[in-house]
Amino acid sequence: MQVIESIEEMQTVAMQLRFGGHLIGLVPTMGNLHDGHISLIKQAKEKSDKVIVTIFVNPKQFGPSEDFAEYPRTWKEDLKKCEDNGVDIIFHPSAEAMFPKDFSTYLNEETVSEVMCGISRPSHFKGVTTVCLKLFNLVRPDFSFFGQKDAQQCAVIKKIVRDLNIPTEIKIGETIREPDGLALSSRNQYLTKLQREDALSISKALTKAKDLVDSGIKSTDRIIAEIIHMLSQKRRIRIIYVQVVDRETMQAAKTVLQNQTIACVAVWVDDVRLIDNIVF
Ligand code: AMP
Repeated sequence: MQVIESIEEMQTVAMQLRFGGHLIGLVPTMGNLHDGHISLIKQAKEKSDKVIVTIFVNPKQFGPSEDFAEYPRTWKEDLKKCEDNGVDIIFHPSAEAMFPKDFSTYLNEETVSEVMCGISRPSHFKGVTTVCLKLFNLVRPDFSFFGQKDAQQCAVIKKIVRDLNIPTEIKIGETIREPDGLALSSRNQYLTKLQREDALSISKALTKAKDLVDSGIKSTDRIIAEIIHMLSQKRRIRIIYVQVVDRETMQAAKTVLQNQTIACVAVWVDDVRLIDNIVF
């Protein structure tokens, strides 16, 4: 496994792989790898013959009062996990290399990213799309892998790829959960035992919503009300949003369409921000 820190080297190596006829799979991450990331790496291994994992805590996608400084950085463990899972290259650039002081070009998606997390984290998606476009340009991946856990991010990335004809195919991996249902997230480790207990109500409320849909209820008002009701039982939870939307446009849905409509939740569990969603 090769570790590349330099932008120029990454671009050269990726070009050589491409000219060598290899199919390249890209898995962008912020490190602190867990089984959600590993499942994306495994899917990348299946589809492509060279897998490039990027580990970069992207300063541009954190707001000024967010957890950029505290975000868990576990380089040694990440390196071992990548090695154990057959990753070919880790791209691990510095923030200065990716965003030099005079950096001034941003990519702004203007529809899909304007709702839900786009409201509560105003510059977040601009940071995500800008860094992903840079990674697509550097690596030129045939396939790029993202997790359904971040449903709006998936929709925004698919939209920029379509709008700008970026030559990569976006593959979405299902959300990996703890045995008790909590969606894996690097931010779960901020949770105390009691906070974690309350956080479990997120996946429970989403599962209940799916049960309602499976039992024939298609009214999204009814589903949203049920999710809010269940989350409101927990003392440590403050709801940021609960929405039932189309999984591609992120626009509010009136009725549920199979495999197309998703329920999305963002909450504060005390001072920890968590998101989750379920596909109906
Ligand atoms: P992050 O390091 O949090 O930026 O995540 C990197 C990639 O892993 C993103 O595409 C995420 O959507 C994906 N991911 C994060 N958590 C999960 C999970 N629990 N299941 C599947 N994919 C995930």
